[in-house]
Amino acid sequence: MGRGLRIATVRGIDIKLHPSFLLALLWVTYYWGIAPDRGLRGVLFGVFILIAVFVSVVGHELAHGFVALRFGLTVHDITLLPIGGVARIEQVPLPPRREAAVALAGPLLNVLVAIGLLPVVLVIAVASDVRSWYDLLLLVHGIDGRSFLLHLWIANLMLAAFNLLPAFPMDGGRLLRALLTGVSNRLLATRIAVALGQILALALIVAGFYTRDVALPLVSIFIILAAFVEARMILVESALQSLPVGQFAVWDAGGVSPDSPLSHAVLGGPRDLAVTHQGMVVGMLWRDDVLSLLSRGHSLRVADIMDRNVTAMDVDSSVYEVHRRMLATGRPAIPITEGGLYRGIFTSDRLVHVHRYLQQRFGTRDRYRGLIEALGLLGR
Ligand SMILES: [Zn+2]
Repeated sequence: MGRGLRIATVRGIDIKLHPSFLLALLWVTYYWGIAPDRGLRGVLFGVFILIAVFVSVVGHELAHGFVALRFGLTVHDITLLPIGGVARIEQVPLPPRREAAVALAGPLLNVLVAIGLLPVVLVIAVASDVRSWYDLLLLVHGIDGRSFLLHLWIANLMLAAFNLLPAFPMDGGRLLRALLTGVSNRLLATRIAVALGQILALALIVAGFYTRDVALPLVSIFIILAAFVEARMILVESALQSLPVGQFAVWDAGGVSPDSPLSHAVLGGPRDLAVTHQGMVVGMLWRDDVLSLLSRGHSLRVADIMDRNVTAMDVDSSVYEVHRRMLATGRPAIPITEGGLYRGIFTSDRLVHVHRYLQQRFGTRDRYRGLIEALGLLGR
C-alpha cells in the first residue's frame, strides 16, 4: 500500500491518498447529492464531512505512528482508503505493554476528540431543542454547521468503538493479543485474535445482507485479508525464530588477516569478508569499500579500510535474530562464530535460501510468494 498520492508529511511520515479513494467521492456524490436530490450544495457538504472524517482517521493513524516512533520503530507511511486508514509500521514484536500502547493510541485520540466536542454537541442539542433521538437524526441529516459538528463527533465515537472491537486487524485485536501474550505465547494469542477477526468478518457479511449495506461486506473482506496476512506473518516470524543461523550461514575457512595487503584479500573476487585475528572476528571488509579504494594503489592493508564496528553472532542464534541485527545495524552481512571463534558469514543473499526453505516447508511456492507480497501491502 506504498502507492498513492502524497498529500502531506508529518514528522517524516508520508500521508497518502490511495487511488481507490475516488470511490469515496463517488459515494459522497450519490449519498449527499443525488439520493436526497440536493444537487451541488449537498455534494459540497458531503465532501466537507468526508474531509472531517478523514482528518479524524489521519489523527488516529498518526497517534499510532507517534507512539511507535517513540519506541524506535520505523513508520513508513499512512495510506487513506475509502474504508479507513492504514499506517505501515515496522513489523517488530514489541513487549506486550508497548504493543498495547501503540494499539491504544489511535482509539484514545478519537475518544479525546469526542470528549472535547461533547460541550459543543450539548450546546447544539439544547439550542436546537432536541428532545428525542428522532430530533437528533433530523439535525444530523441537515446541511449546516450543526450537522457538520455532529458528524465529526459521531465519526470519532465510531472510530474509537469500531477499532476497539477485540478482533484482528482492529486495534482491539492487538490489545487482546498483548493481553493474551502475557498469559500464553504470542503465536497462540495471535491465532485467537485472528479467529475472532474471522467471526467479526462473518457477522459483518450477515449484517450487510440484512441491512443491504454493501460497505459492510467490503469491510469484512479487508478484515479477512488482513487477519490472514497477520496470521501468516506470525507463522513466518515464529519459523524464522526456530531456525538456527548456522544451518544457513556460508562456512568459511578463516577470514582474512588485518595485516594482509588489500590486493591479496580480494584474490577470490571482491565480496564481503570477515577479518579475523587468532580466530576472533575483529572487523568486516565490505565489498563496496574495497571496490571504491582498490584503484588507490596496492599499498593499502585490510586494517586500513576494514569496518571495526561489527558484532558477530553465535551459530545458535536464530535467523530471525540475525536478520534483526542486520536491519538494526544497516550491514549486509553478519559474521557467525562458534564458541567465540569465526566460523562463517550470513549475508542478505542467504535470506533468499531461508525463504526458499520455508516455501518448501509451508507448501505451495506461489502461495508463499503471494504472502510475501501481501506483507508489503498491509500494515496496522
Ligand atoms: Zn487504529
